[in-house]
Amino acid sequence: MTAKLLVVDDQMGVRRLLFEAFNEGDYEVVLAGSGHEALEKVKADMPDIILMDMKMPGMNGLEALHEIKKINGSILVIMMTAYGELEIVAEAMKLGVKEYVTKPFDINELRELVKKVLDENRKNQTG
Ligand SMILES: [Mg+2]
Repeated sequence: MTAKLLVVDDQMGVRRLLFEAFNEGDYEVVLAGSGHEALEKVKADMPDIILMDMKMPGMNGLEALHEIKKINGSILVIMMTAYGELEIVAEAMKLGVKEYVTKPFDINELRELVKKVLDENRKNQTG
């Protein structure tokens, strides 16, 4: 079963890394370089899961999250934070985000986490 993964990060290096890490086999990867672009991609592509950077110029990850929840309240989100951003983590959890990774993350751990979140969601949906 293929999952559509939206990667949102203002840094091209991170987008490229995550594209390489996920765009094979089980995933179709969509990229966005800003919060605004993320909203467009959510509307156009309806991803199953989002990897969302929190620190971005313009619309940051939390603001994007607020808007995305209005479009699709059940979308799965894993956020990417910097070390020590505990307030941001707490805010995102209030918006229903259950998982986060701290940059710099281990790509294999992130793969495992994405798989876990998708698997748990599928289990819940099939009862
Ligand atoms: Mg950033």
